[in-house]
Amino acid sequence: MRSYSLLAPAKINLYLEILGSRPDGYHELAMILQSIDLADAIDLHANGTDNIRLHCDHPQVPVDKTNLAYRAAQLMIHQFPDAFAKFGGVDIEIEKRIPVAAGLAGGSTNAAAVLVGLDLMWQLGLTQSELQELAAQLGSDIPFCIGGGTAIATGRGERLSPLPDLDNLHVILAKHRSLGVSTAWAYQTYRQQFSSSYISDPQSLKERSARVHSGGLVSAIAHKDAAKIGQSLHNDLERVVLPKYPQVQQLRQAFETAGVLGTMMSGSGPTVFALTASRTQAELVRQQVATAINDPSLEFFLAQFNPTGIKVV
Ligand code: ATP
Repeated sequence: MRSYSLLAPAKINLYLEILGSRPDGYHELAMILQSIDLADAIDLHANGTDNIRLHCDHPQVPVDKTNLAYRAAQLMIHQFPDAFAKFGGVDIEIEKRIPVAAGLAGGSTNAAAVLVGLDLMWQLGLTQSELQELAAQLGSDIPFCIGGGTAIATGRGERLSPLPDLDNLHVILAKHRSLGVSTAWAYQTYRQQFSSSYISDPQSLKERSARVHSGGLVSAIAHKDAAKIGQSLHNDLERVVLPKYPQVQQLRQAFETAGVLGTMMSGSGPTVFALTASRTQAELVRQQVATAINDPSLEFFLAQFNPTGIKVV
């Protein structure tokens, strides 16, 4: 086929622990990632030229070679020159529904969609793990975005172990429209402030990252224990983002006061999410938090946990 339409879901971090520094300069992480059904729509169309052309309806998203979706197409061209010669270039159309620079892996999931879509369009027949290996060359969250669902992610975030699907939870997300946090800033600042507590020897890093597999949150997920999942959320990056952005701290407190199962900043923020047992409860929480904060720039998104990553529609 010459055209593919894909849905690219956002992710939230149910757990994010920074363990230490790796020899390659990245942080060693232990995370639990969850896809949600807030998704961008990506259309790919074979354009019969030698070029990648990209369009996005969101003014903050670059449409040049710095766009992660563009870079994903470049990587595919580099890896599969024969397929590119046969099928030609591609038009990439991104309809942004995931807020930008929000800690929800918006760019990463767009790149994952391009990898999946070009694999189909160019009839390459790549396996999920082959796609994930390519994805890891582009960015740490992109391998997860391919298959999605619920997973433990270690290493830089690219080493994945699937967890059982969670279908009994609803999520409400909130973000101040004009607020964005740079992921690079959050990790650099964390390093400046807390690197004295990092684990550095490779054996201890390995042992610590293995421990997340037997941790409280994994056990709560295995038992679909919604209350315990809510109580076990964790994100080390809150230690640097909350003091710098009081609005994020205020949102978190407002969710707590509204009596949710649990609340946490996602990734490097500034999006804060809260878990509820039903959609009705999520809607009530939205009203309560909107009234408590009373700021017209505050936007809310209601979503559910998603069992998959990139989907062809
Ligand atoms: P993560 O959670 O993976 O750290 P994020 O959700 O915080 O990512 P993104 O929405 O991916 O952040 O955007 C971060 C920056 O990446 C944006 O400011 C934008 O300039 C750039 N960017 C490049 N490609 C994209 C894309 N396809 N969609 C959104 N932003 C993109």
